[in-house]
Amino acid sequence: MDLSYGPQYGAYRAEVAAFLAASWPPRDGADRDAQITEFRRLATERGYLYRGIPKQYGGSEQPADLLRARIIGEEFARVHAPREVINVGVGNLVGTLLECGTEWQKEMFIPKTLSGEYYWAQGYSEPGAGSDLASLRTRAERVGDKWVINGQKIWSSFAYMAKYMFVLVRTDPQAPKHKGISYLLLDLQQPGVKIRRIKQITGQSEFCEVFFDNAETPTDWIVGKPGEGWKVSTVTLKHERSSGRGVDWASAHFAWLVEFAKRAQYDGRPAIESPEIRRQLAVIQGHVESMRYSGYRQTSMEAAGENPGIFRSLMKLYGSDIAQKMALLGARLAGDDLMLLDLDSTRESRRGSDRWVQLFMSSMVLAIAGGASNIQRNIIAERSLGLPRE
Ligand SMILES: Cc1cc2nc3c(=O)[nH]c(=O)nc-3n(C[C@H](O)[C@H](O)[C@H](O)COP(=O)(O)OP(=O)(O)OC[C@H]3O[C@@H](n4cnc5c(N)ncnc54)[C@H](O)[C@@H]3O)c2cc1C
Repeated sequence: MDLSYGPQYGAYRAEVAAFLAASWPPRDGADRDAQITEFRRLATERGYLYRGIPKQYGGSEQPADLLRARIIGEEFARVHAPREVINVGVGNLVGTLLECGTEWQKEMFIPKTLSGEYYWAQGYSEPGAGSDLASLRTRAERVGDKWVINGQKIWSSFAYMAKYMFVLVRTDPQAPKHKGISYLLLDLQQPGVKIRRIKQITGQSEFCEVFFDNAETPTDWIVGKPGEGWKVSTVTLKHERSSGRGVDWASAHFAWLVEFAKRAQYDGRPAIESPEIRRQLAVIQGHVESMRYSGYRQTSMEAAGENPGIFRSLMKLYGSDIAQKMALLGARLAGDDLMLLDLDSTRESRRGSDRWVQLFMSSMVLAIAGGASNIQRNIIAERSLGLPRE
């Protein structure tokens, strides 16, 4: 099997690498956020970011070429250059609007979401509706030219800093549970919305509870038709699963883990010299590489116009599992530092342990966010392997 990308892609890789060598990292001194924004603008202009999004909405509108996309991912990861803005607005909503939104919605929301000006929260989960999302109870009633919303969402990541939310609400309580749901866009900065942050095990408070007490949104801020929210939400989840932590993330973290093993002490010597630690690193590397080749299979299927279907669930499941394995080993190498560190800190500690403590604490959530691992296993078992329903 020839896994090389071919000579024309070699030239493309050199072009991407040359762009990065000239523009990343930026020189010290100027405002870091402004530098990142400017870098993203340049990278989009060169066709490296937002490739699937039309130019009129702020994308670079490149022809679909999954190998080029992979090369960009690999090269950007190699030099730790920023890629697209990280927010559910970019990862989940934009693709949904392109597929299901009206023209004015695309024009109004997509460009400023890509630039990071419009920051979004996702309002799906409720206290009684997580894996069984279709049981959601937050209500929206049409009153004149507005939807009036009452109810509660939970686990909305970063809602406290978001301007808008895309939210699933029940608009027809009489309809069967999947049919009575609608997908609304909503301005969070209004008196009918209260946001409460939830303290997490990491010490941070990224998650929020969001309470709606006669919150309002215009009737045309609906994506799809009333009652089509479930269908639209599956489009969002598809984007969420395919934009999950992929092999680039795993490779970059594995490289950091190896570096950390060179510095950390284990059994009175550098951890990298311990046969036990080396064996564990080798096992993890095997998983990262097998994820890479599974990713190539997914890429080949997509390049051939086939629907990778179940691969998205497989890759999500696999990615969460590898992240947990790396986090566990990193935490083991951090040793007693686990108890000493300032979890709110974003800096690297003297011995470089902070990253691993953070990852150890947060790795548990990877198996829950965007559809729990058990649910992914059910999907794989039932839809791919044809096993009986649970
Ligand atoms: C990091 C992170 C970010 C998130 N961000 C958001 C967000 O921005 N917006 C939002 O709306 N939500 C968000 N969530 C919530 C997330 O979507 C839900 O936590 C997830 O869908 C699971 O729902 P739940 O927490 O109610 O757990 P439950 O559904 O109660 O599940 C609890 C456990 O039971 C298992 N389980 C449930 N049903 C089955 C079944 N049928 N078969 C086998 N096992 C089952 C699950 O695997 C899990 O282990 C986020 C969650 C995390 C961890």
